[in-house]
Amino acid sequence: MTYAAGRHFLQIPGPTNVPDSVLRAMSAATIDHRGPEFAELGLELLRDIRPVFGTTGPVVLYPATGTGAWEAALVNTLSPGDRVLCFETGHFATLWQEMARGLGLEVDFVPGDWRHGANPEVVAEKLAADRAYTIKAVCVVHNETSTGVTSRIPEVRAAMDAAGHPALLLVDTISSLGSIDYRHDEWGVDVTVSGSQKGLMLPPGLSFNAISEKALAAAETARLPRSFWDWKPMLAANQRGFFPYTPNTNLLYGLKEALRLLYAEGLPNVFARHARHAAATRAAVRAWGLEVLCLDEREYSGSLTAVLVPDGVDADKVRALILDRFDMSLGAGLGKLAGRIFRIGHLGAFNDLTLAGTLSGVQMGLTLAGVPIEPRGVAAALEYLQDN
Ligand code: PLP
Repeated sequence: MTYAAGRHFLQIPGPTNVPDSVLRAMSAATIDHRGPEFAELGLELLRDIRPVFGTTGPVVLYPATGTGAWEAALVNTLSPGDRVLCFETGHFATLWQEMARGLGLEVDFVPGDWRHGANPEVVAEKLAADRAYTIKAVCVVHNETSTGVTSRIPEVRAAMDAAGHPALLLVDTISSLGSIDYRHDEWGVDVTVSGSQKGLMLPPGLSFNAISEKALAAAETARLPRSFWDWKPMLAANQRGFFPYTPNTNLLYGLKEALRLLYAEGLPNVFARHARHAAATRAAVRAWGLEVLCLDEREYSGSLTAVLVPDGVDADKVRALILDRFDMSLGAGLGKLAGRIFRIGHLGAFNDLTLAGTLSGVQMGLTLAGVPIEPRGVAAALEYLQDN
């Protein structure tokens, strides 16, 4: 690799750019994870992580990526053969339901076009038809990172309540936590799954389950095999600020600093910042004459925007050119969207000028790749930022 001056633009929708102060915090010496200094850190983090999830209940932390927290949510609450209702909102929802099948659950996978979120009306229909309450959980990916579509969790919850159905609500917030408004308690979510590498502005390697009382009760009778993911020893050790195994201490230093940054800005401001950058990005996409993948304006994502390229254009070639010429990484189209879209991550440690740089790179890249666009996108986004 030749030397590239200046900072790399990491504008994939996670992992995101890690702030310097978080990097510095993580460079402190690793301490004894069974000693008193660690217990203090552990207790502080286990308390201070809760507001990001919008909960006053327990949040467990795993030294694992988001996929592990997906598994934890399923194995702690469900039993072999249980039915779960899942929605094909995109690549990650598809992977989660595949995992559920692999674990021995029976999945009702509602097909989708990868341009819409989970449909609350279908939730209502499916649960109303399930008079015997065979569906034990509804699993929804809050923000589909593969499509830039955000499902309406309060409406999904309302549909479940209207049906009077006792299923648990399991929600993946891996690319929405700390970026898009989210309220575990208020929205009646039973398990919220998340990860460190997106809105929390940390490297990958930490993941989370926020757990409702109903989910804790379900764990008492759930029979899927579990060991590493078992909430019980975790919650017991957490009482004293410890973990049942070796935690990733330096990532926890980073988490402490990342939470400090999020709370210093204020979560409502963090969410508004993301929504504003997302709106400016959509203004750019439309001014280029391109199409935003998400089709429902109620479901626009604050953390990323997926852009459809014209027929005959290979989005991966455009991304490769942008990486080569401008040292910027953009998200690839995943699964059935491979080559058809690119994804602009605008989440985490990100401001107006990061957006201006990002969109400039995209505009120059599209032009150099010969994609027929109007070169007005950057100007449209800047106008939006000035006026809003
Ligand atoms: N769910 C969503 C919405 C994601 O975006 C990702 C990763 O990007 C995952 C799950 C999987 O998480 P991980 O790659 O951290 O295991």
